[in-house]
Amino acid sequence: MCGIVAYTGSRSAQQILVNGLRRLEYRGYDSAGICIQDHGSLKLVRTKGKLAELENALESTPVTGTVGIGHTRWATHGAPSVKNAHPHTSMDGKIAVVHNGIIENYSIIKTALEKEGVVFKSDTDTEVIVHLVSKFYNHTPGKGNLAHAVTETLKHLEGAFGIVVVSADEPGVLVGARRGSPLVLGVGENEFFLASDVAPIVEHTSKVVYLDDNDMVVLNGTYKITNQANAEVRREVQNIEFSAEEVARGNFDHFMLKEIFEQPNTVLNSLRGRVLPEGTALLNGLNLVNQELRSIQRIIIAACGTSFYAAKVGEYLIEELSGIPVEVEYASEFRYRNPIITDKTLVFVISQSGETADTLAALREAKQKGATVLGICNVVGSSIARETDGGVYLHAGPEIGVASTKAFTSQVTVLTLIALLLGRMRRTSPDEGMKICKALNKIPDQIREILKLNDQIKDIAKVFKDCGNFLFLGRGYNYPVALEGALKLKEISYIHAEGYPAAEMKHG
Ligand code: GLU
Repeated sequence: MCGIVAYTGSRSAQQILVNGLRRLEYRGYDSAGICIQDHGSLKLVRTKGKLAELENALESTPVTGTVGIGHTRWATHGAPSVKNAHPHTSMDGKIAVVHNGIIENYSIIKTALEKEGVVFKSDTDTEVIVHLVSKFYNHTPGKGNLAHAVTETLKHLEGAFGIVVVSADEPGVLVGARRGSPLVLGVGENEFFLASDVAPIVEHTSKVVYLDDNDMVVLNGTYKITNQANAEVRREVQNIEFSAEEVARGNFDHFMLKEIFEQPNTVLNSLRGRVLPEGTALLNGLNLVNQELRSIQRIIIAACGTSFYAAKVGEYLIEELSGIPVEVEYASEFRYRNPIITDKTLVFVISQSGETADTLAALREAKQKGATVLGICNVVGSSIARETDGGVYLHAGPEIGVASTKAFTSQVTVLTLIALLLGRMRRTSPDEGMKICKALNKIPDQIREILKLNDQIKDIAKVFKDCGNFLFLGRGYNYPVALEGALKLKEISYIHAEGYPAAEMKHG
């Protein structure tokens, strides 16, 4: 989930939005854009890459106006590009939206809207929101009322979102809403801010309202918050006393800790829209029809580091559920030897960034040998995502910490979904499949429970902090988890550590 900032007041919006987006830069992003109300029309400026690009574009075509919305995007649907950058606008250009999160049912909505004649301009899931708002805005009852149009739109959306919407025809008005993605209201002197966290707000006002899930807020010279039942609700105005720098990491001492604590949400995002009630997984991005998936006789997974250990967990799961033999290879080894690949071999490559050099080389070698190669990566539009025949995105959001944490759990989540899908085509029964789905859906809450033990874990760490060597032991799919645990400790502390299969302790 990336950054949102929006402003309505009497000052020039452009600089406030761009400064706000700077404050959100720490979250990582691939493109950025702003949209400003300007004398009955909306002015849109979007660029790929760093904010400096957006600033350059604005330098040549500055936008005046005191009401606007801005966004830094971390792509989940559609490559990073200008056309996929937010804000997204309606066909008549009169309504614009910025969105953080994932709309799970976007393809159903998109198909329905296309039948009604809507022409889509981007590959994002987000674009359905603006076309829905525009549809309700132009239809009676409630014609010409943005708040009403957004209320109606929210009824159709499934998934996670923080959104802010603006119309060319309602000067000064912004409508924000959230479900599963944060949105904060900043209350200034005759001006208001909406943002995905307080970082862009704190330099302007210390008064903020944290919106609750399913809240919608309308800003029109004052603010009004309503809940899902459309009843007005009061939310506490809080005083924030921390700086923008402190906000970036939240209450956490460093990004790694922050990302560890994001896991309930990141795992949920990896599961979103992919767990089916009939006890299997929906993974459209694989681009393989069932007959093709059924004819696979062997799977090779090539990866490095943490992704390699996630792949090892995948090996246990895929073999157990589907009976397809799986080999996990270090991408660096794969590329330098002569692996056996037949037309019934499916190759997966795994990389958080989608740019790992050895993994990319392994992908090219496998393609060279004529294999179908699928990717599992986090960064949409990355080299691996582009060069594979299909794959599954993690949707874990940008990972800033040096040690991969949330990407690992999302990789394991996605591999579980793949194992489930392949399993249900072979030897996993519907009952067993449904059991796995139920268990998967519980995982985000279970991670939350584990994270509550943070202080106890810290106490244990203090007891052992001066040890010079660590052994991590595990059996079954906990063996690769032990290997990953040892890798984490080495990477972060430089203390020697080894992962071992539990029963191997008596050897070596
Ligand atoms: N799913 C949306 C997209 O891919 C929003 C991504 C974000 O949260 O930045 O455009």
